[in-house]
Amino acid sequence: MGKKLLLEHVDVPGINTLSVYRQKGGYASVEKALKTMTPEAVVEEVKTSGLRGRGGAGFPTGMKWSFLAKPAGVPRYLVCNADESEPGTFKDRYLMEKIPHLLIEGMITASYALGARTSYIYIRGEYFYVAQILEKAIAEAYEAGLLGKNIFNSGFDHDCYVQVGAGAYICGEETALLESLEGKRGNPRIKPPFPAVAGLYGCPTVVNNVETIAAVVPIVNHGGAAYAAIGVGKSTGTKLISASGHIKKPGVYEIELGVPVEEFIYSDEYCGGIINDRKLKAVVAGGSSVPILPADLILKTAAGEPRLMSYESLADGGFASGTMLGSGGFIVMDETASVVKNLYTFTRFYHHESCGQCSPCREGTGWMEKIMHKILDGDGTMNDIELLWDIQAKIEGKTICPLGDAAAWPVASAIRHFRSEFEEYVRRGHSIKDVKHYYSTKGIPEPAYS
Ligand code: SF4
Repeated sequence: MGKKLLLEHVDVPGINTLSVYRQKGGYASVEKALKTMTPEAVVEEVKTSGLRGRGGAGFPTGMKWSFLAKPAGVPRYLVCNADESEPGTFKDRYLMEKIPHLLIEGMITASYALGARTSYIYIRGEYFYVAQILEKAIAEAYEAGLLGKNIFNSGFDHDCYVQVGAGAYICGEETALLESLEGKRGNPRIKPPFPAVAGLYGCPTVVNNVETIAAVVPIVNHGGAAYAAIGVGKSTGTKLISASGHIKKPGVYEIELGVPVEEFIYSDEYCGGIINDRKLKAVVAGGSSVPILPADLILKTAAGEPRLMSYESLADGGFASGTMLGSGGFIVMDETASVVKNLYTFTRFYHHESCGQCSPCREGTGWMEKIMHKILDGDGTMNDIELLWDIQAKIEGKTICPLGDAAAWPVASAIRHFRSEFEEYVRRGHSIKDVKHYYSTKGIPEPAYS
């Protein structure tokens, strides 16, 4: 059984309430930090822990914190990115819904380290009921003196607010999030300046993911070195994984980084194997934005080493044969799945969510969706596959924000690893049209084209 740092008490009845949460040691990190540590010492512990951003980018959190500008007389902010919208990712929702005080505790401790008097939790609009859970928990914390003035008689004041987004995926990009938080349209900003220098209302700001902020709690409680001792290499600590697709036990799992992918998919402790014991076909390991890998490459690296659930091992081989841990949205496809159909869903999603500021993303995502639709409809040509490849290559690395890359990578990897499936759709084009016509005239549901 792997170590649990965030979800240890998730099944305790009433853990969403302050009283039960405190019975289980809740808010100890706030008391420890405020009474016995300087803000700089908290930052050092987070650096020592090796914690990396859990939202997808994996940037070292302590380093990000140390970039925060500290001009005199200017407020600093901590903003929690709870705009979890990456298809296949639902771990932040689980954490906030089940243990809301863990996030609030992390917000206070992290804010103390950063010198932030005010913090915001920006949560996606579709999680409105979770926002209500957080509001209730925040009210409990205020009532108990854990938020507000002079917390634990330390002289540290802190206010925390929840802001609900309006349902745009792009607001998960940190600068778009800040624009939205300021009441504007959520368009990503051109960087530099980075939020650490000019973030919310032009002031120094740290934007961290929900899980990242929650992880500050065990780091302060047990020490950065203890956290760093868990995991493998530079992938330290634990990670929440949202597992979905053709597995026997979908859900949110807290793993010690470094668990073999094969164990994660097949062991009863985690996913429990493939539904009906069918064959594994492919995995999207870190949310829809990361490259999809076929079964052989997700289980083993190109060099034949067992692939591990870690930042480094999943990326081994670059994009030629590897992928990314990303946000931990682990989507499993068995042999009955159609990669082409799944990719169409992704291209449609990114086209819909592009903010439209830069041409390669605005136009390219639209073209990719149109071509995928054409192929699925039975009108595709071999040249369309080349065109798809060409378009994704013209988007990658040429946009203001990472949404362009996120739209390009699934297309590139699907063609790279499943080209024959695209070709099969093209070859069977006319028969697909015949089948579609047959079912539509009979008025019965059409089968999957796998
Ligand atoms: Fe907007 Fe796409 Fe450009 Fe990002 S990459 S700024 S989403 S158009």
